[in-house]
Amino acid sequence: MRVHGVERGVSRAGRPTSLFHIEMSQRYRHTAGFADPFYRGIDQGVLRATRCDGCGAAWFPPRPFCPVDLAETAWYDLPGTGTVTAATRVHIPPPFGGVEAPYLLASIRLDGVEGGITHRVLGDRIPEKGTVVAVKFMEGVPAHPLLRAAFEIEGRAA
Ligand SMILES: [Zn+2]
Repeated sequence: MRVHGVERGVSRAGRPTSLFHIEMSQRYRHTAGFADPFYRGIDQGVLRATRCDGCGAAWFPPRPFCPVDLAETAWYDLPGTGTVTAATRVHIPPPFGGVEAPYLLASIRLDGVEGGITHRVLGDRIPEKGTVVAVKFMEGVPAHPLLRAAFEIEGRAA
């Protein structure tokens, strides 16, 4: 932590005030644990989900165990396409940074799985419900591993 300065002032009630300018930075080592194949998939340019070999149920976000069979699930690759169910324009950056506001955020039902993701959509136009999108993977080291992925608008659902 570092204090860069102090603003001295007076409140509306006439009391003296002090506003400290503080910079804080922290580093963490955080294991991906069970989700390691998911994050390796992001680096390899693929979204991964899990499936129960017993009943065939599949999940995204991935789950380690089937809640019905209590069996360990298996990883598989998704096609990376999906359909927008809702979208909005966000006017504040995410808490981990790395995205300029405003940006587009959409809830996306992913193809190949029961489930989806609420994630960033590239472009300036808010996609309508039913818009088909496809994941795109960025180069470089983003502020958060999930920012390697964003969705591009492909068109309207048939
Ligand atoms: Zn199952």
